[in-house]
Amino acid sequence: MIAPETSRAMHADQPLRNPSYPSNCLHFASPFMEAPSSPTQTQSPPIRLSIIIVGAGLGGLATAIALAQTGHSVTIYEQTPVLGEVGAGIQIPSNSTRILFKLGLEPYLAPYVTEPESISFRRWQNGKIIGKTRLVPNFVDHFEAPYYVVHRADFHSALCHRARDAGVKIELGARVVGYSAVGGSVTLADGTEHSADLIVAADGIKSVARMVLLEGQEMSFTRPGFAAYRAVVEVEKMRNDPELSWILERPALNIWIGDSRHVMTYTIGAGKAFNMVLSHPDSSDPSTWNEKTALEDMKAEFQGWDPVLTKIIGLVDKTIKWPLMSGSLLNRWRLGKLVILGDAAHAMLPYMSQGAAMAVEDGIALARSLSHMRTVEELQMALEIFQTVRIERAGQMQEASLLNGQLWHFADGPLQEARDAAMAPEVEGRPFSHSPNQWSDPATQMWCYGYDSERAIDVAWGKADAGPQDVRSVL
Ligand SMILES: Cc1cc2nc3c(=O)[nH]c(=O)nc-3n(C[C@H](O)[C@H](O)[C@H](O)COP(=O)(O)OP(=O)(O)OC[C@H]3O[C@@H](n4cnc5c(N)ncnc54)[C@H](O)[C@@H]3O)c2cc1C
Repeated sequence: MIAPETSRAMHADQPLRNPSYPSNCLHFASPFMEAPSSPTQTQSPPIRLSIIIVGAGLGGLATAIALAQTGHSVTIYEQTPVLGEVGAGIQIPSNSTRILFKLGLEPYLAPYVTEPESISFRRWQNGKIIGKTRLVPNFVDHFEAPYYVVHRADFHSALCHRARDAGVKIELGARVVGYSAVGGSVTLADGTEHSADLIVAADGIKSVARMVLLEGQEMSFTRPGFAAYRAVVEVEKMRNDPELSWILERPALNIWIGDSRHVMTYTIGAGKAFNMVLSHPDSSDPSTWNEKTALEDMKAEFQGWDPVLTKIIGLVDKTIKWPLMSGSLLNRWRLGKLVILGDAAHAMLPYMSQGAAMAVEDGIALARSLSHMRTVEELQMALEIFQTVRIERAGQMQEASLLNGQLWHFADGPLQEARDAAMAPEVEGRPFSHSPNQWSDPATQMWCYGYDSERAIDVAWGKADAGPQDVRSVL
């Protein structure tokens, strides 16, 4: 039998290792613990690649910055002649902001972002608060980065400026019509061919590159049967109405939830515009939609809802109807020298407000994985590790987004009552250990907003390095 003193001494000498179960009990000790496996820059000269990115959307730009910042030479080919973003508002959750700050975006974003204090879930019928997440100061305290909302055009232009300042070349009016995954080249619509060590396609939900790497097959989409109206109301119209002005007093997200529908709202443009996304059931083919009746149709969808909400909807003078789709889980994001990311790889319902955030995480994860390469031959290994780590993470986010599509949309009845009762502690400021509100649920919160993309890549490289010697050469 081991004497108790001996056993204590043995444990004290052992290095601390993160447990295999989800726990943050060792968070305090991270500065004292060995990194799982850090990139190789200090041991061998860094590998500098020439990289083509297809698509200058939010995902392509964030990836370009991450890659340029780690020393690669990056050119983006974007089909549109004029850069921009469709739609009005977008949420930048803390897991994304933390990365964006690392990419040097803080000063570029600062003039445009709003930091909402909270997110309130409201009952469809009367606007009563049924769930509440305190974002300020909790998210900065817990996840070391603020939770922002911003106009998409401002977010996009901040990324463009930062990308150009980081040395990224952006070629506009350059539509890619062909890929050679093996050779590492793209062909543009003007017939020119361009080669690189790596082609990253961030070409969105209708990705052509995805078809290439799935060898001609199209990814199947889950059609959860929803569409969204996107609209903006000038705040002056609301400010002049005493029944509505209270909603603008403090920056906040408000979401009304009810049977099969919800309306997400927040102010953007430094408080100048009230942004709305109105989700409703619709399985029809988008090619049959009639733009001319969209405004009326939108108003009809929410008849009988909270009078405050319907009054705001009444102020909308134009809207765009948007199809909502979730991609299926792919088992591959890479082929030869081609890799896909962003919506091309993991389109999801916007119900966790994480689609672009996942693309930002993809970008830094790819840069980190490439930083581990010791030789150019390890490119396939770097892409394999990137793919494995990101498919798991983005797949779980697709799942969480689909789950919100159920949790928020219960018809009045026992499940809805149980859900609302389970959110009561967070509304009343009582302690809670679980919540159907995934912004508040402690386990979901830590997984969603506390995730460290670079660490996940380091851990995966650490495992590969500790594995059989031939793993590197096989890949
Ligand atoms: C209603 C709604 C609300 C949302 N809210 C949020 C939110 O709050 N937070 C969040 O993080 N996400 C949100 N999202 C998701 C987010 O908008 C997307 O995930 C994100 O914009 C995807 O970026 P991307 O760069 O991958 O793709 P895209 O934005 O689609 O960019 C693709 C780019 O590639 C270019 N391109 C395509 N094909 C070619 C080609 N052949 N040659 C050259 N260029 C090409 C396109 O022109 C485009 O510029 C929301 C989505 C919707 C629909």
